[in-house]
Amino acid sequence: MNKMGIGNRIVYNKIVDMYAKCRRQADARKVFDQMPERDVCAWTTMIAAYAKHGPAEEALKLFDNMKQIGVMPNGFTFASIVSACASLVSLEKGEEIHEEIRRCGFECHVPVANALLDMYVKCERLDRARRVFDEMAHRNVVSWSAMIAGYAAQGEPEEALGLFGRMQLMGIRPNQFTFASVLPACTRFGSLEKGMEIHLGIIRGGFCSNVIVMTALVDMYAKCGSMEKARELFDGMQERTVVSWNVMIAGYAHNGLVDKAMEVFNEMPQQDLLSWNSMIAGLALNGKRDKALKLYQQMQLAGLRPDSMTFTGILPVCANFAALEQGREIHEKIIRNGLHSHVNVANALIDMYGKCGTIQKARYLFDKMHHRDVVSWTAMITGYSMHGCGKEALELLEQMKTSGVKPNEVTFVCVLSACSHAGLVDEGYQCFKDMSEFYKIIPRMEHYSCMVDLLGRAGRLDEARDFINQMPVQPKAAVWKSLLSACRLYNNIELGEWAAEHVFELDWKNAAPYVLLSNMYAVAGRWDTIERVRRMMKDRGIQKTPGCSWIEVNKEVHNFIGGDRSHPEIHKIYTKLEILSREMKVAGYVPDIRFVLNDVKEEEKEEILRHHSERLAIAFGLINTPPGTIIRIVKNLRVCGDCHSASKFISKITAREIVVRDANRYHCFKDGQCSCGDYW
Ligand code: ZN
Ligand code: ZN
Repeated sequence: MNKMGIGNRIVYNKIVDMYAKCRRQADARKVFDQMPERDVCAWTTMIAAYAKHGPAEEALKLFDNMKQIGVMPNGFTFASIVSACASLVSLEKGEEIHEEIRRCGFECHVPVANALLDMYVKCERLDRARRVFDEMAHRNVVSWSAMIAGYAAQGEPEEALGLFGRMQLMGIRPNQFTFASVLPACTRFGSLEKGMEIHLGIIRGGFCSNVIVMTALVDMYAKCGSMEKARELFDGMQERTVVSWNVMIAGYAHNGLVDKAMEVFNEMPQQDLLSWNSMIAGLALNGKRDKALKLYQQMQLAGLRPDSMTFTGILPVCANFAALEQGREIHEKIIRNGLHSHVNVANALIDMYGKCGTIQKARYLFDKMHHRDVVSWTAMITGYSMHGCGKEALELLEQMKTSGVKPNEVTFVCVLSACSHAGLVDEGYQCFKDMSEFYKIIPRMEHYSCMVDLLGRAGRLDEARDFINQMPVQPKAAVWKSLLSACRLYNNIELGEWAAEHVFELDWKNAAPYVLLSNMYAVAGRWDTIERVRRMMKDRGIQKTPGCSWIEVNKEVHNFIGGDRSHPEIHKIYTKLEILSREMKVAGYVPDIRFVLNDVKEEEKEEILRHHSERLAIAFGLINTPPGTIIRIVKNLRVCGDCHSASKFISKITAREIVVRDANRYHCFKDGQCSCGDYW
């Protein structure tokens, strides 16, 4: 190549451009460095290559070099450099360049404004993006699509759908990216109807063979619960990318059809990391603990490196089964992969440690986080709530407010249930008020249910009743159930029957209210009425959910069902429980057979109690762990009063800490006491 030739600048620029388009930045750079003279086009081509294909930092450096030697950037240079900031998610740098753009008068340049808009969206500053959008004199389809995508992805689906409508009114025809951006808004909005309307638009616009649009459409149908339609469209696709397959996996998993998801996973020509991640998360979501863990191992054997999404998918498995050892091992792996500061991963770790009964560890990780989002705060508050630490939960809510993170509706459910578990009635009331008045969050059924629970659990049953009567919406079964359990706690039969009637009206298939009602009659000694409830259950074909408890020993989770004899070590367990029972009685334990509703003799009742699932799990833990080890149990239902009392005695006799997570909260039994203070 003749460096001194004439007209060479254009040739050089073309070569740089060609290499850049082939993503060969190194070669492009070599040519660029050899250029005897570089004009703004050359600089811009090179900067654009880095901005588009990385490393984006290199684009920023080059931009500075260019200005140092006195070359003035043009609109395309600015657009590229703003894109580089967007891919680095660097708001600070982006704002700095925005200022420069203003000074140089390039704000009205459409590609520059589009790049700015996109940068603010990627930095999650929708307000700033919107300002750029509103100030644009000319907007093209790219501007509209970027703004719609921002709203759809960041939880403002109504705004996204509104803009989509406005755009068409203004005569701008949506392209493939607009459709792909607006469809997730329908999903978020939960509106299949709206989605079908857009489907019509896609047909009219002739996008039915566009793989990006069709994949987004399949995703919309799947997430809106219309899996059959999703499948039909997927089967009809002429071209499928790995994303299309992944959308099907996630769709089936989302709808609880995890076997179908597995079929798709096995059927697809080539799985990528996202396929594995979706499959693992899907199994975890559907409670398939062993399969999820197995796939997580297999994925690594296949040579794939787990990323943040893998970990956020697999950690809930440990959280839900209180598999602390497994969880710790995964935590180590996360540290080795350098992902412990990733905000979603840190959130999942806090959730896991909180739900595994190690609240201090959760708090330690929480305090170490540099950037906390609403999920981080909510996860920590949930942990406190489950441990009955109402004060700590309220303190955290205060800190959260001052830190500038806005609590959402889930946060308030957690705070209210924390207040309820700790008997903080007035504080709970205040939170409920703040939520609707200050944060303008419309209370959902969960919030009402928490409030009834809060009042009822504290024994303020009349107020709970009045609260229900004053609800602006029709109470659902969960609200009545809260009242019913409070009535059982305080043996208020009259109000309890009233609550039960309403529960049966709305949800007669669930066994729990029948059991609560029977327990209430049992305490009052009304055996004939119990018989009536039992007959009602039998006539309606309602089966009690069997009590089930889990314990992790040596990284393996063992499952126990009340009265079940299938565990290989069952004889040892029964013997252990008999010995314990004798020692407990010496220490003053009296079995409370009122908690047994079966029609059997007294001695048998005692035996039934002794073989409740949590006791089988505790005995198994005692046999299989060295003295002094904390025993951690998870139970699917609420702990019964007798097991609660027995666990206290066992903790004292064996000098072990026993941590039980039941359907409601944590109980830490230590030295004959429970952390719940018998208030649960
Ligand atoms: Zn029990
Ligand atoms: Zn307790």
